[in-house]
Order: sequence, then C-alpha cells, then structure tokens
Amino acid sequence: MELHEALLKKYWGFEQFRPHQLEAISALTSRQDVLLILPTGGGKSLCYQLPALALPGTAVVISPLLALMKDQVDACKTSGIPAACLSSMATTDENREAMRQVRQGNVKILYMSPERIATEATQEFLGSLKISLFAVDEAHCISQWGHDFRPEYRQLSLLKQRFPAVPVIALTATATRRVREDIAEQLRLKQPEVRIGRFDRPNLIYTAVQRGDLFSQVLSVLGAHKKESGIIYCMSRSATEKLADKLAHAGFKARAYHAGMDHDLRKKTQEAFLRDECEIIVATIAFGMGIDKSNVRFVIHAALPKSLENYQQESGRAGRDGLAADCVLFYSAGDLVQQKRFFTELPDDERTIAENKLEKVLNYARANACRHRQIVRYFDQAYEQEKCGACDVCEGKAAVLAAAPEAPDALKISQMILCCVLRLKERFGQSHVSLVLKGSADKTVLMYQHDSLSTYGLLSAYTIPVINSFVRQLVEQKFLSPDSEFNTLSVTESGRKVIQGELTPTLVAERYAGAKLPTMGASARSEVDWEGVEKDLFYLLRAERTNIAIEQNVPAYVVLHDSVLRDLARHKPRAREELLRIPGIGEQKLQAYGDRLLRVIHSHCRAAA
Ligand code: ADP
Ligand code: ZN
Repeated sequence: MELHEALLKKYWGFEQFRPHQLEAISALTSRQDVLLILPTGGGKSLCYQLPALALPGTAVVISPLLALMKDQVDACKTSGIPAACLSSMATTDENREAMRQVRQGNVKILYMSPERIATEATQEFLGSLKISLFAVDEAHCISQWGHDFRPEYRQLSLLKQRFPAVPVIALTATATRRVREDIAEQLRLKQPEVRIGRFDRPNLIYTAVQRGDLFSQVLSVLGAHKKESGIIYCMSRSATEKLADKLAHAGFKARAYHAGMDHDLRKKTQEAFLRDECEIIVATIAFGMGIDKSNVRFVIHAALPKSLENYQQESGRAGRDGLAADCVLFYSAGDLVQQKRFFTELPDDERTIAENKLEKVLNYARANACRHRQIVRYFDQAYEQEKCGACDVCEGKAAVLAAAPEAPDALKISQMILCCVLRLKERFGQSHVSLVLKGSADKTVLMYQHDSLSTYGLLSAYTIPVINSFVRQLVEQKFLSPDSEFNTLSVTESGRKVIQGELTPTLVAERYAGAKLPTMGASARSEVDWEGVEKDLFYLLRAERTNIAIEQNVPAYVVLHDSVLRDLARHKPRAREELLRIPGIGEQKLQAYGDRLLRVIHSHCRAAA
C-alpha cells in the first residue's frame, strides 16, 4: 500500500487516491482482472499507469483513438513515466524505434490500437515481451449494447486466450448493466474486481433551457467564459460549420469539427484546441471521445443528445480538473422529431429502446427537479443531498416549463402557418409571421395592413413564444425553408403537401415560463474554486504555461492543470520544497518547471510589495 502511495506522490504529486483507485490498483498488482467503471474525469488512467510502474515488464494499453495516443504518451513522459506508442500514424522508423525501446526494457507503458493487436506480427512481438498487464480503454466499444460499438474491439478476446496469466483491466464510463456484463464476457475476464464509481460530478453546473435564438443564447454562455476552452455540440455537420463561422466572425477563436472533414484538418483542429490556440470547438458527437483536456470550462449542447448516457459522457468532458464548469443544454421538442428520424431504419425493439432513451432526455430538460439528482438516478444510484448548489433548478434560476405539453391539432396548425407564409408572399421572417398569426396590433403589421389578411389572428389562442416554437418546428422538419440572406421564410415542396393534407408534421406545444438563460458562472460552486486565488498571478502563471507548452510542443494541460495553477496563485510557494506540496506537482514536474514557476511567483510578489 505504502509503495502505491509513494508512487502516487512521486510521479503525480497527489497525496491521496480517489475512490476505487487503490482497490483497482491493488487488484492488478496482485494479478487479478479488473472492471473499472468511473465517470469521465474520475481518474481511470492512473489505475493502469501506476500498476505499470509497480510491476516488472511493460503494460500494453489498447486505446481506440490513434490521434490521442501521442498526447497520452506525452502526458506520461511529463510525469516521468517512460511510454511509447505503436500507431499507424507514426512512420515505420518511429514504430521500429519504439519497438526497440520496448525490447530493451526502457518502456513501462506501450499504447496501441485495437486493430493492431490481432496481427501476426504484433502477436509475435508481444509474445517476446514480459507484459505486466493489459489495459482496455473505452471498453464499452466492445459491446453492441453500448453507444459506440467498434467491431475491431471484438478481437480483444484473444488477449486472455494468448496471455492467460497477464491481468486485464477494462475501463469505461458507461455504466449500464448490459454493457458491463458484455465487457466481462467478451474479454473473458476471470472473477474480476468490479468497481463502479459514483456518477455524480459535483463540479459540473447543469442548466437546461428551451432553445430560442440559439446564437444569442450561446453568446450569453460565452460571455461568462472569456478566453476559456469549451465545446459546443450540434446535431448536424452543416450546423457545426455555420455556428463556427458565425462565432469566428464575432471574434471568437472557434472552429468546426465533424467526421466529414478531412483527416488532417481534423487532427489540426483537435491539436489547436488541446494547445489552447483554439478556444471553442463546434462539433458533432464525432468529437471528444478520449479527449482528456482537463480545462474545458463549458460544454454546450445546441440540441438534444441521444440519451442521458450520451449527455453524461459529452457534458462530462467539462471540468475534468475538478473545477467548476458549465454544462448547458438548449433543447426544443422539435429535436425529438429530428432525432427519431435517425431511428427509422432500426429493428423494432432497438428503435423502441432508442426512442425511450431520447424521451428521457427531454424529460430531464423539462423536469423541475435537481439535475444532478436526475442524472444520478438514471444510473441507478441514490442522491442524498437536498440541493446540489450546482444546477439551475436548485439555484432557483430554471426556466422550466410551466405545464405539461399539450397535443395540438398538428395538421390544422401547420396549415394555418404555411398558408400565412404564402399570404405574406414569402417575404417575411419568423417573428412577423408569428405576429400576424397571433393577431397582433404591432406597428409593422398594421403598416403593411396585414391585419386584413385572412390568416390574421388564426392562432390567437397561443402565446407568441409558442407560435414561434411551432414555426421553428416546421423549419426544423423542412416544411418551411429560411432564407438566410433576406431572413424570410418560404414554403417547401413538402410544405405544400401539408397544405393539401397529404403530410402531417409533428408539433408539440410548450407553455414555458420565459426561456431566459440564467446568469452563467455565478453559481456558489464556481466561487468556491476561485476562493483565495490571486487572479493576476493565476493569469501570469497561465501565460508561462503557454510558453512552456509551445516550447515543448505539448498541450498546455499536459504541462500543468488549471487546478494546479490556481493552487499556486493561492498559496504562492516561494521555495522548491513548498512547490512539492502543491497537488499535481511531482518530482519530474518540479525538475522541469519548478524554477520557472518560482520566478513568476517571486517577481509578482515583489511587484506587489
Ligand atoms: P478519466 O480517464 O477517468 O476520464 P483521467 O484519468 O483523465 O480521468 O483523470 C482526470 C483528472 O483527475 C486528471 O487531471 C488526473 O490528473 C486527475 N487525478 C487522477 N487521480 C487523482 C488523484 N488521486 N488525486 C488528484 N487528482 C487526480
Ligand atoms: Zn440541483
């Protein structure tokens, strides 16, 4: 035990293990298999890295994302852990050199991709080594019940067949029982030590707001996160590009990321984000798995995610350093319709499961109940706290629905809206159309004499926000098409079929109490994290970290986490021994950066004195 704690201090600079870490580590070092389920940011990597140091031989880590291997290797190296990777993204020479280093016993951790494992050459190579353990990262990829099945993971059953004596640890953040059982079975784990962590992430501040004008809603979140890193998830590739463009025009360092982009551009974008050169990534869900950038301060969803598992994982990319981070979900009932279209090709039973999961996300967003509790309950865990102090509902800021949605006469309402757009000669935009349908005495409506149209006041029974939401739902379902240049609406081919009664759109009426976004970044939780921190010094240290990251060509968070910088700016250590007392500074980091950090602190304190 003491050996493990000594390693934790020496290499990572941490004093204490987090829940489940020591149990997983001890099992591995006594050669028992482990199934470790911890939420994103829970501290999984240490659970195979530390045993790799403690055991003789080399640990082999299977990781699904090639692009990230280099960062994982760099992260190990900055902590003083000798690591290497075999990857199709490296040159033949680089791979050959890595293999040579491994053979010479200079490498404690070797990363490789799952498709590589099954090749004859790799098997032969592995057979010639002393392997301390196998770690299968993102292990849910092996299960069809998970949300990210990868066929090449199926070959991993081979590990236990070929190397029955080598312990295997499977790691994932996906908690459902189905997936858990599937992993243990597929990998042929032998009486594994199963550890399941708590799924609550107390430092994440959840907010869910009905989507209105998305761009201005996004801006209000960004306003609370100037110069900070964040991810915005959109439902489609084109949506990511449009939003990224708009943000870039507005002066933000924002870029799009989706699977349709070419490989090099994707890689560059990801690297720019990891190095803090790009602040905001606007992405489809193709972005993020395995990204362990620790200082992501906000994750925005511009539309409903597919399930609460997805939401937990995607939003969980925020705040890995344990500091407060905002997770904001902008949703519309129309998302439900949009997403369900993706399910039409699924077999009946799978479709039912998928639709069920989707509806639960909408319920989550609409419910007037603590969001932390809702998420934790979804994962079958209890939530004891009365109030979380970190969600819009508990903080009394929620703009939740005033009443349950009603089922309106979708066909009739849609026809009224579409006819109104035609009567307006397709020359007006959403807000004007809504005013006319409401029967408003607005100045512009009267000026154009639109109060004399036959469609004037047809929807007077509904409030303007509800009519707006109907119109938006028709746009989302492509019965109306917006013209971005003139900001007008026109009726599409399928819209005309609706007018003729041949097609019926799905409409949901929502009565909500003003979808205003609560003020971000002001929750009790984020204030605690800044307590006692001298902000000027924090920013100076951050600038120095950027310098180091650029010099060494590694991501900034690999150098030091934000939480470490905040501790430095809080305690202002003046000597090397004092630096070692800061969690996150181990011997290697003291060697590498100690003097530079002390210099920044010294000159700041002198200037302030
Ligand atoms: P996961 O892979 O589970 O998403 P990581 O392994 O990336 O999580 O760890 C998340 C963060 O927690 C990292 O910044 C890591 O340095 C930190 N961490 C891990 N274990 C500890 C610990 N015992 N004490 C303090 N911080 C820790
Ligand atoms: Zn709450």
